[in-house]
Amino acid sequence: MNKLRAKALKVLGGHCVMCGADEVEDLRIDFVDEEGNVEAGRRDNTEMYRRIIEDSNGYYILCAECRKESYEAMKPYKILKDETGVDGKMFGIKT
Ligand SMILES: [Zn+2]
Repeated sequence: MNKLRAKALKVLGGHCVMCGADEVEDLRIDFVDEEGNVEAGRRDNTEMYRRIIEDSNGYYILCAECRKESYEAMKPYKILKDETGVDGKMFGIKT
C-alpha cells in the first residue's frame, strides 16, 4: 500500500467515521469545506495525502458503503450529526 495513503489514513483515525470499518482497501478520504461543499477524494491522490498530513482539518474517512449513502444525501457531515451525534465541528465545519 502507498505509504502516504497509510499515513494520511492514520492521521484521520484509520477507520470510517460513521460505522468504524477499518478495512483499509475499502476506505476513502473525502473533504468538506466550511460551507459544506464536498470534494470526493480519488483513490490515489498523493497531493491530497500530503495536505492531510500537513493539516487534516476538513478531511474525513468513509468506507465504501457509508460513502454511497452519504453521497445520496449530499451532506455527509449532516448525516454524521443526525445519526451519530458527531458534530460537524469535528471536521472544522461551522454548523
Ligand atoms: Zn462505514
